[in-house]
Amino acid sequence: MSSSYTMPRPATGPTPPPIPTNLLIGGEWREAAAKKRIDVFNPSNGEVLTTIANCDIDEGLAAVAAADKAAPGWAATSPRARSEILRKCHELIVANADWLAMLISLENGKALPDARGEVLYAAEFYRWYAEEAVRILGEVGVAPSGSNRILVEYQPIGIALLITPWNFPAAMATRKIAPALAAGCTCILKPATETPLTAFAIAELMMQAGVPPGVINVLTTDKAGPLANAILHDPRVRKLSFTGSTQVGRLLLREAADQVISSAMELGGNAPFLVFDDAVIADALDGAMIAKMRNGGEACTAANRFYAHRSIYDSFTDGIVDRMSRWKLGEGTDPKTTLGAMINEKAVRKISELVDDAVAKGGKLLLGGLRLNRPGYYYPPTVIVDVPDNADLLHEEIFGPVVALQSFDSDEEAIRKANDTEYGLAAYVYTSNLKRGLQICEKIEAGMIALNRGLMSDPAAPFGGVKQSGLGREGSHHGLMEFCEAKYVAVSW
Ligand code: NAP
Repeated sequence: MSSSYTMPRPATGPTPPPIPTNLLIGGEWREAAAKKRIDVFNPSNGEVLTTIANCDIDEGLAAVAAADKAAPGWAATSPRARSEILRKCHELIVANADWLAMLISLENGKALPDARGEVLYAAEFYRWYAEEAVRILGEVGVAPSGSNRILVEYQPIGIALLITPWNFPAAMATRKIAPALAAGCTCILKPATETPLTAFAIAELMMQAGVPPGVINVLTTDKAGPLANAILHDPRVRKLSFTGSTQVGRLLLREAADQVISSAMELGGNAPFLVFDDAVIADALDGAMIAKMRNGGEACTAANRFYAHRSIYDSFTDGIVDRMSRWKLGEGTDPKTTLGAMINEKAVRKISELVDDAVAKGGKLLLGGLRLNRPGYYYPPTVIVDVPDNADLLHEEIFGPVVALQSFDSDEEAIRKANDTEYGLAAYVYTSNLKRGLQICEKIEAGMIALNRGLMSDPAAPFGGVKQSGLGREGSHHGLMEFCEAKYVAVSW
């Protein structure tokens, strides 16, 4: 049993430090009481990278106690001091971007360019919230009756439980930690069991940046449900911020209800990608490759369903097949790789089943469609056209490198198809007519729309979904307010 993981040295940048593999509670890396540790796999070859601590309920409650002990001091730290520490977190992540990217690639399987992009995106949340920490402004007004003043102050909401998925092991954590700390909250992070090492590495860098003991605690466990249940039933905890599947989000909302805990939910998606007859096809193809293939398709914002106007359907489809054939599949850490491994066997099996179902129901396979016979969890770039409405892949997240295409004849039909889902996270629209594009955006049921772009994620913009894709927003000033509570004082002076 080792308390750290020694990762390989990347070709550039500083030498990676040993990566902690135990629980971070109250500023100390602690071994868990349970002797049985959890294996962390490299999806590129299926081999075990290392093992991590397996936290039990008592250790979870010890993390709550540590966050509680640190809370008054952190809330009383001046906004400028909190801001400077967050700024330092940004600098340290950027300075260590090379090995952090390699670590993400090792435990997640994604290609290095994706991993590096994620590290810089993750760091940006610290810079953005360093700037926001000093701009938590209150309000003063006169009551309509004229009898008193209305004074509103924003205070830290309290201890926050942050639960994150494996697909962006760095960015999904920093998108929560940075606003929580900027607001003056202390927190407990529970990263996905598949990708804990990045979270441990970031927490260690945060302590080097001056984050005091107990302000950030990190727990890993193979009993996520019971652990979350215990923490959410501790009266000291006041916030839940979850990113993951809609299915688990629903369960957690029920758990949070018992103590009426404020809950922010970033859940699943089923993004439509609409290409209208007046779109610039080359631009739409560029955007499609980003919207579909960023992170190998394992993104909540990933374009899941492609709809192209009948008049340009064939040319757009030809372009998609051409672009999809250019991806270089391989081990994430190989510099030549542009499409890495999927996260695990279950993910590959799910993609295979969705593709087989679409083809069995009448979809035409133009590229890929057969999983690869090699160690690791790979699925090749795949294109299916004329996918029938009843195919499962139009209704479920594919989370892989599969483009499913259908044609449409009118704007109304395109909008109807786009909205035909219980999800409402992201959507993509391509048209040369900006007025038409904005009118279409108004009618699409999604929290985020990229108009003539393949990417919308930005720490300065409110990220989140409508319908069953979530509650609340992350990033921007909205993300900060998730961790603040308004306190109103009626004053006579
Ligand atoms: P997941 O299975 O819902 O797991 C997410 C996190 O929840 C993990 O840390 C997991 O821990 C934990 N968890 C699982 N069951 C739990 C329970 N009963 N109680 C408390 N925590 C529990 O999701 P995933 O497969 O990791 O991630 C993929 C999903 O995330 C997709 O649906 C994707 O769309 C969504 N996502 C959404 C956004 C967004 O911003 N809207 C961003 C990224 C991903 P273990 O790992 O230990 O099981």
